[in-house]
Amino acid sequence: MKKYDVLVIGAGLYGAVYAREMADQGKMVHVIDKRPSVGGNVYTEEVEGIQVHKYGAHIFHTNDREVWEYVNKYAEFNRFTNSPVANYKGELYSLPFNMYTFNKMWGVVTPQEAAARIEEQRREAGITEPKNLEEQAISLVGTDIYEKLIKGYTQKQWGRECRDLPAFIIKRLPVRLTFDNNYFNALFQGIPIGGYTKMVENILDHVSIEITLNTDYLEDRERWNGEAERVVYTGPIDAYFDYRLGNLEYRSVRFENELLDMPNFQGNAAVNYTDAETPWTRIIEHKWFEFGRDAEGNDLPRTVISREYSSEWKPGDEPYYPVNDEKNGQLYQEYKKLADAEDKVIFGGRLGEYKYYDMDQVIAAALKKVREK
Ligand code: UDP
Repeated sequence: MKKYDVLVIGAGLYGAVYAREMADQGKMVHVIDKRPSVGGNVYTEEVEGIQVHKYGAHIFHTNDREVWEYVNKYAEFNRFTNSPVANYKGELYSLPFNMYTFNKMWGVVTPQEAAARIEEQRREAGITEPKNLEEQAISLVGTDIYEKLIKGYTQKQWGRECRDLPAFIIKRLPVRLTFDNNYFNALFQGIPIGGYTKMVENILDHVSIEITLNTDYLEDRERWNGEAERVVYTGPIDAYFDYRLGNLEYRSVRFENELLDMPNFQGNAAVNYTDAETPWTRIIEHKWFEFGRDAEGNDLPRTVISREYSSEWKPGDEPYYPVNDEKNGQLYQEYKKLADAEDKVIFGGRLGEYKYYDMDQVIAAALKKVREK
């Protein structure tokens, strides 16, 4: 008899949901994480009364009612709606691409005029079947918007030319011929009141779940594997196999956080800097994720901002985004064959499956996996 039924590596969303579901089924679960806290990259930390998204901004959004009901068991959500602003060399545009954006860009007033502009620019570019992100972007919104709001931002974000990136990345963003600047096409949206860390702590709060932090599984994996019947691994898949087929590439993000002695720095949670020259991709002002804050600072006179700098991952950095190009896709498939041959181990989450998952997709994937095994 082993000490635990399941060993979960990584206390991010995938690991936490898997652990909780197993514990609810009466299994004994051990969760280990190398960081000093749970939450993975959704981790939030309170600074001067503001929940700071330490590993990048996370806005929960989903069309999946089951997932929405699931997270609402563990947190109360506010009614935050994401509507970022793009700053292109001092010109401000509404995101995602909607009638406010088209009006500012071209002076058009009606949806018909906007559609005609896009169609004209698409025709001039001669794109029929978009084969990469650049062609996809131009065919969705035309050349002007591509040049000002997509090209520079995407190249900074991914460190690659738009022509060398897959089309699906830009299909994440809606294009609307309405005056609707809600970034997500989602039925349900919000941010957990009190922060994501609290939500993940609540998910993991079960008598049959034991948590060990500050512990790197890969440094002593034989010992940990000996403890449990089954292992769920949510770290980078290539690291698990000691990079034996070569490194998968990731994008990393560096944050420069500042506490400012003013109540309102930019008037919005997210401002994207979409030109190629500004070194950061976006600035997050965390207090605006919390609905009900006062712009005059009557409730909180100070504010916390984070500038995000995107970089190529190298050993020692935190991996954030899998790089979705062909080369990495193929290498992942080779790692996946190794993973499938490990009968005791399940690989899950953004890093374990090398997949550009959103939070709701991670939760749905974990719930599905629980039901399979
Ligand atoms: N994007 C862009 N301009 C923007 C915002 C997004 O070109 O102002 C593109 C960019 O290629 C990015 C993709 O859309 O990688 C997806 O953006 P999303 O906001 O979904 O990325 P995330 O929040 O996951 O970093």
